[in-house]
Amino acid sequence: MVSDEQVLARYFSVLDTLPDHVFVFSESGEYLDVYGGAENATGFDCKPFIGRRLHDVMPQELADGFLAHIVNAIRTQETQYLKYKFEEGRMIELPNGLVLPKELWFEGVIKSLPIDQNGQRSALWIAKNITTQHYLEMELKHLSEVDELTGVYNRRSFTKLLQAAIDRFHDQEEPCALILFDIDNFKRVNDTLGHNVGDEVIRHVVNVFRAGLGPSMSMGRIGGEEFAILAPQMQVSEALALSEALRTTLFNTSCETDLYEIHVTASLGIAEVCRDDGNTLGLLSRADEAMYESKKRGRNQSRVFKPSVKEEWAEVVETSWIKVKGL
Ligand code: GH3
Ligand code: MG
Ligand code: MG
Repeated sequence: MVSDEQVLARYFSVLDTLPDHVFVFSESGEYLDVYGGAENATGFDCKPFIGRRLHDVMPQELADGFLAHIVNAIRTQETQYLKYKFEEGRMIELPNGLVLPKELWFEGVIKSLPIDQNGQRSALWIAKNITTQHYLEMELKHLSEVDELTGVYNRRSFTKLLQAAIDRFHDQEEPCALILFDIDNFKRVNDTLGHNVGDEVIRHVVNVFRAGLGPSMSMGRIGGEEFAILAPQMQVSEALALSEALRTTLFNTSCETDLYEIHVTASLGIAEVCRDDGNTLGLLSRADEAMYESKKRGRNQSRVFKPSVKEEWAEVVETSWIKVKGL
């Protein structure tokens, strides 16, 4: 025959072996019970929190936010999910002698409990330490957004930024310019000096251009040695001035490798968001046409897209195997 005490001891043993911390809070934010948490990396014991309030053990704004979630879980009877961190300067009180980590990330699941204590309702809070997963997630996000060679946005993430800029143009009439650039005669760098030196030259051009951009601007790799700059709140006239400043700086700064001093130039094309732009395709192709114009007129220059550019282009290809529709 198993006694009630043995059953209780067994329940507590199970609860305290739970790898994640389990808290029971009153609706006023008092720690009523604390269990488990043995594998929460920090390994610190939260049982001394029992009888204290959230506001006693962590900074006020954190405690306010936590309490709001507890109250919400109780009022709505809906489970709340929360990702949060304790960091230097905004850290939960840890037992004496414990070395403070820089940042701890947790996933909290908060659920109303059918238990009243001292006339107050209560909620269960399960806290899982997800610091390792969080950093892994951040790294994966970075890898999926950034071009490995140059560190600028890859085509996919840059297109998202561009789409957001187009949406802002429609919602808030915020102007926005796009500058596309392509390194001139780059194939000969690869052909003469090899692919690795070619890579260094690409990085050099990106670094020179990036150094000349304002904090609100972004750069993305659109193709092999073709890049784009998104310049929010900028009219084409300003974008042209920026483009020319970048081009001139590149012209005057050679790429120094161990063995060579390599001089490269770039051709640039500029377009701005317009009313007809729903997605990014039209804007990219207008900037591309302007860039093509810079190439055609001798390279190492910047051109702003003008509708007439397309007509001229049509003349060029009319006799060839392409027919331009609608012209
Ligand atoms: P243009 O002035 O008309 O642009 O002439 P170009 O020789 O630069 O011609 P294009 O822009 O078509 O050349 C692109 C070349 O860039 C072809 C490709 O082999 C090379 N390339 C693309 N991606 C990379 C890369 O990541 N590293 C290196 N080293 N070369 C690349
Ligand atoms: Mg090129
Ligand atoms: Mg190219």
